[in-house]
Amino acid sequence: MGASDLLHNVTAATVGHWIGGRAVTEGARSQDVFNPATGETARQVLLGGAAEVAAAVAAAQAAAPAWADTPPLRRARILNKFLALMNEHRDTLAALITAEHGKVFSDAQGEVTRGIEIIEFACGIPQLLKGDFGDQVSTGIDNWTLRQPLGVVAGITPFNFPCMVPCWMFPVALACGNPFILKPSERDPSPSLFMADLLRQAGLPDGVFNVVQGGKEAVDALLEHPDVKAVSFVGSTPIAHYIYETGARHGKRMQALGGAKNHLVVMPDADLEQAVDALIGAAYGSAGERCMAISVAVLVGDVADRIVPKLAERAKALKVKNGMEPDAEMGPIVTRAALERIEGYIATGVEEGAALVVDGRNYSVPGHEAGFFTGGTLFDHVTPEMRIYREEIFGPVLACVRVPDFAAAVDLVNAHEFGNGVACFTSDGHVAREFGRRVEVGMVGINVPIPVPMAWQGFGGWKKSLFGDMHAYGEEGVRFYTRQKSIMQRWPASIGKGAEFAMPTSK
Ligand code: NAD
Repeated sequence: MGASDLLHNVTAATVGHWIGGRAVTEGARSQDVFNPATGETARQVLLGGAAEVAAAVAAAQAAAPAWADTPPLRRARILNKFLALMNEHRDTLAALITAEHGKVFSDAQGEVTRGIEIIEFACGIPQLLKGDFGDQVSTGIDNWTLRQPLGVVAGITPFNFPCMVPCWMFPVALACGNPFILKPSERDPSPSLFMADLLRQAGLPDGVFNVVQGGKEAVDALLEHPDVKAVSFVGSTPIAHYIYETGARHGKRMQALGGAKNHLVVMPDADLEQAVDALIGAAYGSAGERCMAISVAVLVGDVADRIVPKLAERAKALKVKNGMEPDAEMGPIVTRAALERIEGYIATGVEEGAALVVDGRNYSVPGHEAGFFTGGTLFDHVTPEMRIYREEIFGPVLACVRVPDFAAAVDLVNAHEFGNGVACFTSDGHVAREFGRRVEVGMVGINVPIPVPMAWQGFGGWKKSLFGDMHAYGEEGVRFYTRQKSIMQRWPASIGKGAEFAMPTSK
Protein backbone atom coordinates (compact mmCIF):
# COMPACT_ATOMS: atom_id res chain seq x y z
CA MET A 1 0.00 0.00 0.00
CA GLY A 2 1.42 3.42 -0.96
CA ALA A 3 1.62 6.54 1.15
CA SER A 4 -1.33 8.20 -0.59
CA ASP A 5 -3.56 5.21 0.26
CA LEU A 6 -2.42 5.23 3.87
CA LEU A 7 -2.92 8.98 4.19
CA HIS A 8 -6.24 9.10 2.34
CA ASN A 9 -8.76 10.86 4.59
CA VAL A 10 -6.39 11.44 7.50
CA THR A 11 -4.78 14.70 6.40
CA ALA A 12 -6.65 17.97 6.42
CA ALA A 13 -5.81 21.21 4.59
CA THR A 14 -5.54 22.82 8.01
CA VAL A 15 -4.39 21.00 11.13
CA GLY A 16 -6.33 22.37 14.04
CA HIS A 17 -6.59 21.90 17.79
CA TRP A 18 -8.38 19.17 19.75
CA ILE A 19 -10.29 20.57 22.70
CA GLY A 20 -12.95 18.91 24.82
CA GLY A 21 -13.13 15.85 22.54
CA ARG A 22 -13.64 17.82 19.31
CA ALA A 23 -11.48 19.16 16.49
CA VAL A 24 -11.23 22.96 16.40
CA THR A 25 -10.52 24.07 12.85
CA GLU A 26 -10.98 27.83 13.09
CA GLY A 27 -8.21 30.15 14.18
CA ALA A 28 -6.83 33.57 13.39
CA ARG A 29 -3.22 32.54 12.76
CA SER A 30 -1.58 29.66 10.94
CA GLN A 31 1.72 28.68 9.36
CA ASP A 32 2.99 26.37 6.62
CA VAL A 33 3.71 22.67 7.16
CA PHE A 34 6.07 21.32 4.50
CA ASN A 35 6.61 18.03 2.78
CA PRO A 36 10.41 18.04 3.23
CA ALA A 37 10.96 15.55 0.39
CA THR A 38 9.40 17.86 -2.20
CA GLY A 39 9.91 21.20 -0.50
CA GLU A 40 6.23 22.00 -1.08
CA THR A 41 3.81 23.43 1.44
CA ALA A 42 1.60 20.48 2.28
CA ARG A 43 -0.91 22.12 4.62
CA GLN A 44 -1.38 24.75 7.31
CA VAL A 45 -1.27 24.39 11.06
CA LEU A 46 -3.24 26.71 13.33
CA LEU A 47 -1.22 28.65 15.88
CA GLY A 48 -3.01 28.79 19.20
CA GLY A 49 -2.45 31.31 21.96
CA ALA A 50 -3.86 32.23 25.34
CA ALA A 51 -7.52 31.77 24.26
CA GLU A 52 -7.02 28.22 22.95
CA VAL A 53 -4.94 27.29 25.99
CA ALA A 54 -7.62 28.69 28.30
CA ALA A 55 -10.29 26.63 26.49
CA ALA A 56 -8.18 23.46 26.65
CA VAL A 57 -7.38 23.94 30.34
CA ALA A 58 -11.07 24.59 31.10
CA ALA A 59 -12.06 21.38 29.28
CA ALA A 60 -9.35 19.41 31.06
CA GLN A 61 -10.20 20.93 34.43
CA ALA A 62 -13.88 20.01 33.96
CA ALA A 63 -12.90 16.41 33.16
CA ALA A 64 -10.34 16.12 35.98
CA PRO A 65 -12.45 15.03 39.00
CA ALA A 66 -14.24 12.18 37.21
CA TRP A 67 -11.02 10.98 35.55
CA ALA A 68 -9.12 11.01 38.86
CA ASP A 69 -11.98 9.06 40.45
CA THR A 70 -12.12 6.46 37.68
CA PRO A 71 -10.58 3.25 39.03
CA PRO A 72 -7.04 2.82 37.63
CA LEU A 73 -8.04 -0.49 36.04
CA ARG A 74 -10.83 1.18 34.06
CA ARG A 75 -8.43 3.90 32.93
CA ALA A 76 -6.01 1.15 31.87
CA ARG A 77 -8.76 -0.60 29.91
CA ILE A 78 -9.28 2.54 27.82
CA LEU A 79 -5.52 2.66 27.22
CA ASN A 80 -5.68 -1.01 26.21
CA LYS A 81 -8.22 -0.14 23.52
CA PHE A 82 -6.03 2.77 22.45
CA LEU A 83 -3.09 0.36 22.27
CA ALA A 84 -5.02 -1.93 19.92
CA LEU A 85 -5.95 1.05 17.70
CA MET A 86 -2.34 2.26 17.62
CA ASN A 87 -1.22 -1.20 16.50
CA GLU A 88 -3.96 -1.31 13.88
CA HIS A 89 -3.05 2.13 12.47
CA ARG A 90 0.73 1.95 12.97
CA ASP A 91 1.56 2.31 9.27
CA THR A 92 -0.79 5.24 8.74
CA LEU A 93 0.80 7.04 11.63
CA ALA A 94 4.26 6.20 10.27
CA ALA A 95 3.32 7.55 6.83
CA LEU A 96 2.05 10.77 8.44
CA ILE A 97 5.39 11.13 10.22
CA THR A 98 7.40 10.57 7.02
CA ALA A 99 5.19 13.04 5.13
CA GLU A 100 5.86 15.91 7.57
CA HIS A 101 9.19 15.02 9.20
CA GLY A 102 10.92 13.32 6.25
CA LYS A 103 12.48 10.35 8.08
CA VAL A 104 12.40 7.05 6.18
CA PHE A 105 9.22 5.01 6.54
CA SER A 106 10.86 2.03 8.31
CA ASP A 107 12.33 4.46 10.86
CA ALA A 108 8.92 6.08 11.33
CA GLN A 109 7.43 2.61 11.92
CA GLY A 110 10.13 2.05 14.56
CA GLU A 111 9.24 5.39 16.18
CA VAL A 112 5.57 4.39 16.43
CA THR A 113 6.56 1.00 17.88
CA ARG A 114 8.67 2.65 20.60
CA GLY A 115 5.70 4.90 21.39
CA ILE A 116 3.39 1.87 21.54
CA GLU A 117 5.73 0.27 24.09
CA ILE A 118 5.06 3.14 26.50
CA ILE A 119 1.31 2.57 26.09
CA GLU A 120 1.88 -1.12 26.90
CA PHE A 121 3.74 -0.02 30.04
CA ALA A 122 0.97 2.43 30.93
CA CYS A 123 -1.63 -0.36 30.78
CA GLY A 124 0.14 -1.93 33.78
CA ILE A 125 0.41 1.28 35.81
CA PRO A 126 -2.28 0.27 38.35
CA GLN A 127 0.44 -1.94 39.85
CA LEU A 128 2.69 1.10 40.37
CA LEU A 129 -0.05 3.19 41.97
CA LYS A 130 -0.15 0.91 45.01
CA GLY A 131 0.96 2.66 48.15
CA ASP A 132 2.68 1.12 51.12
CA PHE A 133 1.08 0.27 54.42
CA GLY A 134 2.50 0.47 57.93
CA ASP A 135 0.48 -1.60 60.38
CA GLN A 136 0.44 -0.63 64.07
CA VAL A 137 2.92 2.27 63.76
CA SER A 138 1.74 3.13 67.26
CA THR A 139 -0.79 1.34 69.41
CA GLY A 140 -4.02 1.23 67.41
CA ILE A 141 -2.61 3.43 64.65
CA ASP A 142 -1.86 2.56 61.02
CA ASN A 143 -0.09 4.76 58.48
CA TRP A 144 -0.10 4.33 54.70
CA THR A 145 0.79 6.24 51.58
CA LEU A 146 -1.02 6.64 48.32
CA ARG A 147 -0.15 8.35 45.09
CA GLN A 148 -2.76 10.69 43.64
CA PRO A 149 -2.92 12.53 40.31
CA LEU A 150 -1.75 16.15 40.10
CA GLY A 151 -4.62 17.54 38.01
CA VAL A 152 -4.21 19.13 34.58
CA VAL A 153 -0.74 18.49 33.15
CA ALA A 154 0.85 19.53 29.86
CA GLY A 155 3.49 18.27 27.45
CA ILE A 156 5.49 20.33 24.92
CA THR A 157 7.24 18.22 22.31
CA PRO A 158 9.87 18.56 19.54
CA PHE A 159 9.59 17.93 15.81
CA ASN A 160 11.90 14.97 15.63
CA PHE A 161 9.59 12.36 17.22
CA PRO A 162 6.02 13.62 16.69
CA CYS A 163 4.54 10.31 17.91
CA MET A 164 7.08 8.71 20.26
CA VAL A 165 7.92 11.71 22.45
CA PRO A 166 4.25 12.62 23.13
CA CYS A 167 3.84 8.90 23.99
CA TRP A 168 6.63 9.27 26.59
CA MET A 169 4.21 11.57 28.39
CA PHE A 170 0.47 11.28 27.87
CA PRO A 171 -0.14 7.52 28.32
CA VAL A 172 1.65 7.70 31.69
CA ALA A 173 -0.09 10.91 32.73
CA LEU A 174 -3.53 9.56 31.74
CA ALA A 175 -2.97 6.18 33.43
CA CYS A 176 -2.10 8.08 36.62
CA GLY A 177 -5.42 9.95 36.46
CA ASN A 178 -4.42 13.35 35.02
CA PRO A 179 -6.06 15.14 32.08
CA PHE A 180 -3.39 16.09 29.53
CA ILE A 181 -2.78 18.99 27.14
CA LEU A 182 -0.29 18.36 24.33
CA LYS A 183 1.45 21.21 22.54
CA PRO A 184 3.19 19.41 19.66
CA SER A 185 5.80 20.81 17.32
CA GLU A 186 4.33 23.13 14.71
CA ARG A 187 6.59 21.52 12.07
CA ASP A 188 4.84 18.10 12.05
CA PRO A 189 1.51 18.53 13.84
CA SER A 190 -0.69 15.88 12.16
CA PRO A 191 0.24 12.78 14.27
CA SER A 192 -1.01 14.54 17.43
CA LEU A 193 -4.53 14.93 16.04
CA PHE A 194 -4.54 11.40 14.66
CA MET A 195 -3.71 10.04 18.12
CA ALA A 196 -6.33 12.32 19.72
CA ASP A 197 -8.98 10.76 17.49
CA LEU A 198 -7.79 7.23 18.34
CA LEU A 199 -8.11 8.10 22.05
CA ARG A 200 -11.68 9.25 21.38
CA GLN A 201 -12.41 5.98 19.57
CA ALA A 202 -10.95 4.09 22.54
CA GLY A 203 -13.56 5.69 24.79
CA LEU A 204 -11.53 8.37 26.55
CA PRO A 205 -13.94 10.90 28.06
CA ASP A 206 -14.05 14.33 26.41
CA GLY A 207 -11.58 16.82 27.85
CA VAL A 208 -9.16 14.24 29.23
CA PHE A 209 -6.82 14.64 26.25
CA ASN A 210 -6.45 17.94 24.40
CA VAL A 211 -4.12 19.33 21.75
CA VAL A 212 -3.25 22.98 21.30
CA GLN A 213 -1.14 23.67 18.20
CA GLY A 214 1.27 26.56 18.03
CA GLY A 215 4.62 27.90 19.13
CA LYS A 216 5.93 30.21 21.84
CA GLU A 217 2.63 31.98 22.49
CA ALA A 218 0.82 28.72 23.29
CA VAL A 219 3.78 27.49 25.35
CA ASP A 220 3.92 30.67 27.43
CA ALA A 221 0.18 30.51 28.08
CA LEU A 222 0.56 26.93 29.38
CA LEU A 223 3.53 27.88 31.57
CA GLU A 224 1.63 30.76 33.12
CA HIS A 225 -1.80 29.17 33.53
CA PRO A 226 -2.53 28.63 37.24
CA ASP A 227 -4.53 25.43 36.65
CA VAL A 228 -1.69 23.61 34.87
CA LYS A 229 0.06 21.67 37.62
CA ALA A 230 3.02 20.15 35.80
CA VAL A 231 4.76 20.46 32.44
CA SER A 232 6.99 17.97 30.64
CA PHE A 233 9.14 19.39 27.87
CA VAL A 234 11.43 17.82 25.29
CA GLY A 235 13.39 19.99 22.86
CA SER A 236 16.57 22.01 22.49
CA THR A 237 18.61 23.06 25.53
CA PRO A 238 18.08 26.87 25.41
CA ILE A 239 14.31 26.38 25.24
CA ALA A 240 14.40 23.58 27.86
CA HIS A 241 16.19 25.91 30.26
CA TYR A 242 13.70 28.70 29.63
CA ILE A 243 10.73 26.35 30.03
CA TYR A 244 12.09 24.87 33.26
CA GLU A 245 12.77 28.27 34.84
CA THR A 246 9.50 29.87 33.73
CA GLY A 247 7.33 26.93 34.76
CA ALA A 248 9.07 26.61 38.13
CA ARG A 249 8.61 30.34 38.73
CA HIS A 250 4.88 29.78 38.24
CA GLY A 251 4.89 27.05 40.85
CA LYS A 252 4.66 24.03 38.55
CA ARG A 253 6.34 20.66 38.74
CA MET A 254 8.72 20.64 35.77
CA GLN A 255 10.88 18.31 33.73
CA ALA A 256 12.65 19.64 30.64
CA LEU A 257 14.75 17.37 28.46
CA GLY A 258 17.22 19.22 26.26
CA GLY A 259 19.72 18.77 23.46
CA ALA A 260 22.70 16.47 23.08
CA LYS A 261 26.11 15.79 21.62
CA ASN A 262 26.49 12.06 21.92
CA HIS A 263 29.90 10.39 21.70
CA LEU A 264 30.71 6.86 20.59
CA VAL A 265 34.11 5.71 21.83
CA VAL A 266 35.86 3.10 19.69
CA MET A 267 38.57 1.21 21.60
CA PRO A 268 41.46 -0.41 19.67
CA ASP A 269 40.12 -3.87 20.59
CA ALA A 270 36.60 -3.21 19.23
CA ASP A 271 35.19 -5.25 16.36
CA LEU A 272 35.79 -2.68 13.62
CA GLU A 273 33.00 -3.76 11.27
CA GLN A 274 30.47 -3.61 14.12
CA ALA A 275 31.73 -0.17 15.11
CA VAL A 276 31.45 1.09 11.52
CA ASP A 277 27.86 -0.21 11.21
CA ALA A 278 27.00 1.37 14.56
CA LEU A 279 28.50 4.76 13.66
CA ILE A 280 26.91 4.92 10.22
CA GLY A 281 23.44 3.99 11.50
CA ALA A 282 23.59 6.19 14.58
CA ALA A 283 25.11 9.25 12.88
CA TYR A 284 23.07 9.27 9.67
CA GLY A 285 19.85 7.46 10.64
CA SER A 286 16.93 9.90 10.67
CA ALA A 287 19.42 12.37 9.07
CA GLY A 288 21.00 12.84 12.50
CA GLU A 289 17.79 14.46 13.78
CA ARG A 290 17.64 12.33 16.93
CA CYS A 291 18.55 13.42 20.42
CA MET A 292 20.33 10.05 20.76
CA ALA A 293 22.12 10.31 17.39
CA ILE A 294 25.87 9.86 17.57
CA SER A 295 27.55 13.05 16.40
CA VAL A 296 31.08 12.43 17.74
CA ALA A 297 33.27 9.37 17.12
CA VAL A 298 36.04 9.22 19.73
CA LEU A 299 38.79 7.17 18.12
CA VAL A 300 41.25 5.73 20.63
CA GLY A 301 44.89 4.95 19.80
CA ASP A 302 45.46 3.52 16.33
CA VAL A 303 41.75 3.04 15.57
CA ALA A 304 41.42 6.30 13.62
CA ASP A 305 43.62 5.37 10.67
CA ARG A 306 41.86 2.03 10.37
CA ILE A 307 38.27 3.22 10.70
CA VAL A 308 38.06 6.64 9.00
CA PRO A 309 38.50 5.27 5.42
CA LYS A 310 35.72 2.73 6.07
CA LEU A 311 33.42 5.43 7.47
CA ALA A 312 34.13 7.64 4.45
CA GLU A 313 33.28 4.88 2.00
CA ARG A 314 29.98 4.18 3.77
CA ALA A 315 29.02 7.85 4.22
CA LYS A 316 29.49 8.46 0.49
CA ALA A 317 27.34 5.42 -0.37
CA LEU A 318 24.31 6.40 1.76
CA LYS A 319 21.01 6.11 -0.11
CA VAL A 320 19.50 9.55 0.44
CA LYS A 321 15.97 9.72 -0.97
CA ASN A 322 12.34 10.47 -0.33
CA GLY A 323 11.67 8.55 2.91
CA MET A 324 8.79 6.63 1.30
CA GLU A 325 11.18 4.91 -1.16
CA PRO A 326 11.60 1.36 0.17
CA ASP A 327 15.42 1.40 -0.05
CA ALA A 328 15.94 4.90 1.36
CA GLU A 329 18.45 5.00 4.23
CA MET A 330 18.23 8.71 4.92
CA GLY A 331 15.46 11.17 4.08
CA PRO A 332 15.43 14.96 3.85
CA ILE A 333 15.95 17.51 6.63
CA VAL A 334 12.75 18.80 8.26
CA THR A 335 12.84 22.38 6.88
CA ARG A 336 14.94 24.52 4.59
CA ALA A 337 15.99 26.65 7.59
CA ALA A 338 17.30 23.53 9.38
CA LEU A 339 19.12 22.44 6.20
CA GLU A 340 20.80 25.86 5.95
CA ARG A 341 21.79 25.71 9.63
CA ILE A 342 23.39 22.28 9.15
CA GLU A 343 25.26 23.27 6.00
CA GLY A 344 26.36 26.47 7.78
CA TYR A 345 27.97 24.31 10.47
CA ILE A 346 29.83 22.35 7.79
CA ALA A 347 31.28 25.63 6.47
CA THR A 348 32.23 26.56 10.04
CA GLY A 349 34.03 23.23 10.50
CA VAL A 350 36.10 23.89 7.37
CA GLU A 351 36.95 27.42 8.59
CA GLU A 352 37.92 26.02 12.00
CA GLY A 353 40.46 23.68 10.35
CA ALA A 354 38.76 20.27 10.69
CA ALA A 355 39.47 17.85 7.84
CA LEU A 356 36.33 17.52 5.68
CA VAL A 357 36.53 13.89 4.53
CA VAL A 358 33.02 13.65 3.05
CA ASP A 359 31.04 16.77 2.16
CA GLY A 360 27.26 16.24 2.06
CA ARG A 361 26.42 19.78 0.96
CA ASN A 362 24.52 20.64 -2.25
CA TYR A 363 23.00 17.19 -2.46
CA SER A 364 20.34 16.77 -5.10
CA VAL A 365 17.84 13.93 -5.38
CA PRO A 366 16.58 13.41 -8.97
CA GLY A 367 12.90 14.28 -9.20
CA HIS A 368 13.03 16.02 -5.79
CA GLU A 369 15.26 18.97 -6.63
CA ALA A 370 13.35 21.34 -4.32
CA GLY A 371 13.44 18.89 -1.37
CA PHE A 372 15.47 19.72 1.74
CA PHE A 373 18.25 17.19 1.15
CA THR A 374 21.82 17.04 2.32
CA GLY A 375 24.15 14.04 2.17
CA GLY A 376 26.14 12.47 4.99
CA THR A 377 29.11 14.59 6.12
CA LEU A 378 32.26 13.27 7.83
CA PHE A 379 34.92 15.37 9.56
CA ASP A 380 38.24 14.07 10.89
CA HIS A 381 40.78 15.78 13.18
CA VAL A 382 38.06 17.65 15.06
CA THR A 383 39.25 19.21 18.34
CA PRO A 384 37.29 20.12 21.49
CA GLU A 385 37.53 23.92 21.00
CA MET A 386 35.76 23.80 17.63
CA ARG A 387 32.10 24.86 17.44
CA ILE A 388 31.31 21.75 15.39
CA TYR A 389 32.43 19.74 18.44
CA ARG A 390 30.85 21.86 21.16
CA GLU A 391 27.45 22.66 19.65
CA GLU A 392 24.55 20.45 18.68
CA ILE A 393 24.26 20.45 14.87
CA PHE A 394 21.24 18.12 14.74
CA GLY A 395 21.98 16.85 11.25
CA PRO A 396 23.90 14.09 9.43
CA VAL A 397 27.37 15.33 10.40
CA LEU A 398 29.81 13.02 12.18
CA ALA A 399 32.89 14.54 13.83
CA CYS A 400 35.89 12.26 14.53
CA VAL A 401 38.08 13.22 17.50
CA ARG A 402 41.36 11.34 18.00
CA VAL A 403 42.51 10.59 21.57
CA PRO A 404 45.53 8.63 22.81
CA ASP A 405 43.90 6.35 25.38
CA PHE A 406 40.81 5.31 27.36
CA ALA A 407 41.33 7.88 30.13
CA ALA A 408 41.49 10.70 27.58
CA ALA A 409 38.29 9.40 25.96
CA VAL A 410 36.38 9.43 29.28
CA ASP A 411 37.75 12.89 30.17
CA LEU A 412 36.64 14.23 26.80
CA VAL A 413 33.08 12.91 27.20
CA ASN A 414 32.84 14.11 30.80
CA ALA A 415 34.01 17.63 29.96
CA HIS A 416 31.20 18.17 27.44
CA GLU A 417 28.25 20.25 28.63
CA PHE A 418 25.72 17.74 27.31
CA GLY A 419 25.23 14.28 28.83
CA ASN A 420 22.34 12.60 27.04
CA GLY A 421 23.66 9.35 25.53
CA VAL A 422 27.07 7.77 25.03
CA ALA A 423 28.46 4.46 23.78
CA CYS A 424 31.67 2.50 24.08
CA PHE A 425 32.65 -0.21 21.61
CA THR A 426 35.13 -2.67 23.08
CA SER A 427 35.67 -6.40 23.57
CA ASP A 428 37.18 -5.91 27.04
CA GLY A 429 34.73 -6.42 29.90
CA HIS A 430 36.83 -4.46 32.38
CA VAL A 431 36.99 -1.43 30.06
CA ALA A 432 33.23 -1.69 29.54
CA ARG A 433 32.59 -1.82 33.27
CA GLU A 434 34.88 1.12 34.02
CA PHE A 435 33.28 3.12 31.22
CA GLY A 436 29.78 2.54 32.54
CA ARG A 437 30.77 3.56 36.04
CA ARG A 438 32.92 6.62 35.25
CA VAL A 439 31.13 8.30 32.39
CA GLU A 440 28.95 11.31 33.33
CA VAL A 441 26.07 10.70 30.97
CA GLY A 442 22.51 9.60 31.66
CA MET A 443 22.18 6.75 29.14
CA VAL A 444 25.11 4.47 28.32
CA GLY A 445 25.51 1.81 25.64
CA ILE A 446 28.17 -0.88 25.69
CA ASN A 447 28.45 -2.04 22.08
CA VAL A 448 24.98 -0.49 21.66
CA PRO A 449 25.10 2.82 19.76
CA ILE A 450 21.68 4.26 20.67
CA PRO A 451 20.81 2.99 24.15
CA VAL A 452 17.25 4.35 24.42
CA PRO A 453 15.92 2.73 27.62
CA MET A 454 12.90 0.48 27.49
CA ALA A 455 9.44 1.69 28.54
CA TRP A 456 9.75 0.50 32.13
CA GLN A 457 13.24 1.94 32.66
CA GLY A 458 12.85 5.66 31.96
CA PHE A 459 14.65 8.10 29.66
CA GLY A 460 16.81 11.02 30.68
CA GLY A 461 20.18 12.66 30.21
CA TRP A 462 22.49 14.45 32.63
CA LYS A 463 23.97 17.93 32.72
CA LYS A 464 22.46 20.33 30.13
CA SER A 465 20.48 17.50 28.56
CA LEU A 466 17.88 17.51 31.36
CA PHE A 467 16.58 20.14 33.75
CA GLY A 468 14.60 18.62 36.59
CA ASP A 469 14.77 15.64 38.91
CA MET A 470 12.95 12.91 37.10
CA HIS A 471 13.38 11.08 33.84
CA ALA A 472 10.60 10.56 31.33
CA TYR A 473 8.33 7.47 31.50
CA GLY A 474 9.04 4.31 33.53
CA GLU A 475 8.61 4.50 37.29
CA GLU A 476 10.10 8.01 37.32
CA GLY A 477 7.28 9.04 34.99
CA VAL A 478 4.71 7.63 37.40
CA ARG A 479 6.32 9.60 40.23
CA PHE A 480 6.35 12.75 38.11
CA TYR A 481 2.62 12.55 37.36
CA THR A 482 1.51 11.69 40.90
CA ARG A 483 2.04 13.07 44.37
CA GLN A 484 2.31 11.09 47.55
CA LYS A 485 -0.16 11.42 50.36
CA SER A 486 0.34 9.88 53.78
CA ILE A 487 -2.73 8.89 55.80
CA MET A 488 -2.58 8.00 59.48
CA GLN A 489 -5.66 6.57 61.18
CA ARG A 490 -6.94 5.23 64.45
CA TRP A 491 -10.45 4.31 65.48
CA PRO A 492 -12.33 5.44 68.59
CA ALA A 493 -11.82 2.20 70.51
CA SER A 494 -8.06 2.76 70.58
CA ILE A 495 -8.02 6.50 71.26
CA GLY A 496 -6.44 7.25 74.63
CA LYS A 497 -7.74 9.69 77.22
CA GLY A 498 -6.69 13.33 77.38
CA ALA A 499 -4.92 15.80 75.12
CA GLU A 500 -1.27 15.18 74.22
CA PHE A 501 1.06 18.18 74.12
CA ALA A 502 4.36 16.45 73.40
CA MET A 503 5.51 15.37 69.91
CA PRO A 504 3.67 12.07 69.18
CA THR A 505 5.98 9.04 69.31
CA SER A 506 5.31 5.34 68.99
CA LYS A 507 3.76 3.85 72.14
P1 NAD B 1 12.80 23.22 19.91
O1 NAD B 1 13.43 23.47 21.22
O2 NAD B 1 12.99 24.24 18.83
O3 NAD B 1 11.21 23.06 20.05
C1 NAD B 1 10.65 22.19 21.00
C2 NAD B 1 9.27 22.69 21.38
O4 NAD B 1 9.40 23.98 21.98
C3 NAD B 1 8.31 22.84 20.21
O5 NAD B 1 7.02 22.41 20.62
C4 NAD B 1 8.32 24.33 19.93
O6 NAD B 1 7.10 24.80 19.41
C5 NAD B 1 8.60 24.94 21.30
N1 NAD B 1 9.37 26.19 21.22
C6 NAD B 1 10.30 26.53 20.29
N2 NAD B 1 10.79 27.76 20.56
C7 NAD B 1 10.18 28.20 21.68
C8 NAD B 1 10.30 29.39 22.46
N3 NAD B 1 11.13 30.38 22.12
N4 NAD B 1 9.53 29.50 23.56
C9 NAD B 1 8.69 28.50 23.91
N5 NAD B 1 8.54 27.36 23.21
C10 NAD B 1 9.28 27.19 22.11
O7 NAD B 1 13.28 21.78 19.42
P2 NAD B 1 13.04 21.06 18.04
O8 NAD B 1 13.87 21.73 16.99
O9 NAD B 1 11.59 20.89 17.77
O10 NAD B 1 13.64 19.61 18.37
C11 NAD B 1 14.99 19.30 18.29
C12 NAD B 1 15.67 19.44 19.63
O11 NAD B 1 15.06 18.61 20.60
C13 NAD B 1 17.13 19.00 19.61
O12 NAD B 1 17.87 19.90 20.38
C14 NAD B 1 17.10 17.62 20.25
O13 NAD B 1 18.31 17.22 20.85
C15 NAD B 1 16.04 17.82 21.27
N6 NAD B 1 15.47 16.56 21.70
C16 NAD B 1 15.81 16.11 22.93
C17 NAD B 1 15.32 14.90 23.37
C18 NAD B 1 15.68 14.38 24.72
O14 NAD B 1 15.07 13.41 25.14
N7 NAD B 1 16.62 14.94 25.44
C19 NAD B 1 14.47 14.14 22.55
C20 NAD B 1 14.14 14.64 21.31
C21 NAD B 1 14.65 15.87 20.88
